[in-house]
Amino acid sequence: MRRPPSIRREPGEGTEVFDQQPHYERRAFLLILAASSGGYLLWARRPANSGPPPRSRVRIAQFDASGAPAGVVEVAVVRKTNSEWMKQLPPDSYSVTRRKDTEFAGTGAYDKFYEDGIYRCICCGTAVFDSKAKYASGTGWPSFTEPIAKDNVVESPSDFFGIRQTEVKCARCEAHLGHVFDDGPPPGNLRYCINSVALRFVRRNLT
Ligand code: FE
Repeated sequence: MRRPPSIRREPGEGTEVFDQQPHYERRAFLLILAASSGGYLLWARRPANSGPPPRSRVRIAQFDASGAPAGVVEVAVVRKTNSEWMKQLPPDSYSVTRRKDTEFAGTGAYDKFYEDGIYRCICCGTAVFDSKAKYASGTGWPSFTEPIAKDNVVESPSDFFGIRQTEVKCARCEAHLGHVFDDGPPPGNLRYCINSVALRFVRRNLT
């Protein structure tokens, strides 16, 4: 509460009225106002996607034509504009990998497809699944128990109309591949539910 001003009398100088709390409250108010205004300006001018800077390089497990591991190498991430991806990809692959759409169940080329080989990201060619991990889930989408290498995919939380899911993306180009659920077969109990149009199958070459 603001106290009443006091009166000090000085001989020959008349009467001077001064405030024992002259301007502290006003100064404090102005300081708080300035600080909060500055804070607002900094907040308003923050980058749209603040957070850690995007990675420029990533570790990817390599596989030869027979599907055998060929070492882990550090490579540059693949980044392209939407128009570049649209030029490179068929429309359905673009919608799924770059816009996170999902192909209709039972329509994908690899749904009931069990040839022996490696599935690569349709966008950048990174090996993402091996046919040895593919199984008939009956869901209408290609299903795998595990990725070909943990390094080659990124799993992150996603939200589908309030339902928590785990999205699976290509580690090198961030193509949306599908989702992973915990209702797969033992022992891992994982079901990587992947869109056919996000994949490119390469038959295993054992010669
Ligand atoms: Fe990719």
